[in-house]
Amino acid sequence: TETGLQPETLPADPAPVAPMRDLMSKFDGLIAERQALLDSGVTDPFAIVMDKVRSPTEAVIKGKDTILLGTYNYMGMTFDPDVLAAGEAALAQFGSGTNGSRMLNGTFRDHMAVEQALRDFYGMSGAIVFSTGYMANLGMISTLAAKGEYVILDADSHASIYDGCAQGNAEIVRFRHNSVEDLDKRLGRLPKEPGKLVVLEGVYSMLGDVAPLKEMVAVAKAHGAMVLSDEAHSMGFYGPNGRGVYEAQGLDGQVDFVIGTFSKSVGTVGGFCVSDHPKFEAIRLACRPYIFTASLPPSVVATAATSIRKLMTAREKRERLWANARALHGGLTQLGFRLGTATPESAIVAVILSDQEQAVAMWQALLDSGVYVNMARPPATPAGTFLLRCSLCAEHSSEQIERVLGLFAAAGRAVGVIG
Ligand code: PMP
Repeated sequence: TETGLQPETLPADPAPVAPMRDLMSKFDGLIAERQALLDSGVTDPFAIVMDKVRSPTEAVIKGKDTILLGTYNYMGMTFDPDVLAAGEAALAQFGSGTNGSRMLNGTFRDHMAVEQALRDFYGMSGAIVFSTGYMANLGMISTLAAKGEYVILDADSHASIYDGCAQGNAEIVRFRHNSVEDLDKRLGRLPKEPGKLVVLEGVYSMLGDVAPLKEMVAVAKAHGAMVLSDEAHSMGFYGPNGRGVYEAQGLDGQVDFVIGTFSKSVGTVGGFCVSDHPKFEAIRLACRPYIFTASLPPSVVATAATSIRKLMTAREKRERLWANARALHGGLTQLGFRLGTATPESAIVAVILSDQEQAVAMWQALLDSGVYVNMARPPATPAGTFLLRCSLCAEHSSEQIERVLGLFAAAGRAVGVIG
């Protein structure tokens, strides 16, 4: 026979078939927890549907006009007429999808155009676009740091950074969130010879706090490490050219790799890495999450290219976004809410609540009164905290911010979060 087994060598009395193990039973705890939440009568915070989206700041949820205060649409580009026109033209000219990898048939005119827009935006020689920001981190981290080398990351890093570490073969070392001292200490304990990649984020998305990148990059360099900074939550509104926290802290030219996404300020979907490294293009030949997946649809890269070019000169939007962040942060502080940062450091304002029950009650009260915020809970949040995460948009009007503050005051008093 093909297997080389002769019928007479098979056991006469085969062992009984093993019982089927239900691999889904490991989720029983999660299913029960979610059911208990729903049984308490609240809307499922993780199953919201936008029936209509009227603008970057307004949608219809369950038939109700709702102010969006929990999206990453920082610069309000999703309804920009030039962005929409670019997407529509590309859709008509190039069709709805690429049907292939960037490596083979999946590179169209606008994939080249968006990479050029990124080179221009960041003033760097290299740009590689991935299908999402998640995949950019997954691909870059797992490809840059190989077996016997080290990735050193902040303990509060985004899941895509952790998953990039898990996908690769390097040794992983964590340091205490935003602690320059701990970073220095951990790097100091590593052997001198192997390659090292320190992974940082400009803005940490749960609390909205900014990293001391200047000190951290200096420490990394002193230990011979290369640096990757994820600037997902800063693109468009930090630094003279909107490049991110690293630019705002005077580090242009000192960060080896910058990761970003199209899903926040750019207003569509996709991810990227930019770098000045002379050998950067080699990533395209070795990076599995770049190679073994389909490229972004032509309409998506066309909207991204147009949006990125507009972000280069979006001074007014930047100013409005910062004014909105200050107004919301100041108003919530005055009302007595406990926030993730003492001052407005980013476009994220996190309201810290004592437990899941309080967080869900507050979230529900806000939704019922017409404002949507993100509910965030462990394991996404640091130190087991429950958060209502507000993120601002340049297109929020002062009237909307005022209205939101009034609704927070009412909900906070009803739920007993504030006096
Ligand atoms: N990095 C950070 C810091 C993020 O917060 C996110 C998404 N929230 C990503 C990467 C992934 O981006 P994308 O949505 O493009 O996958």
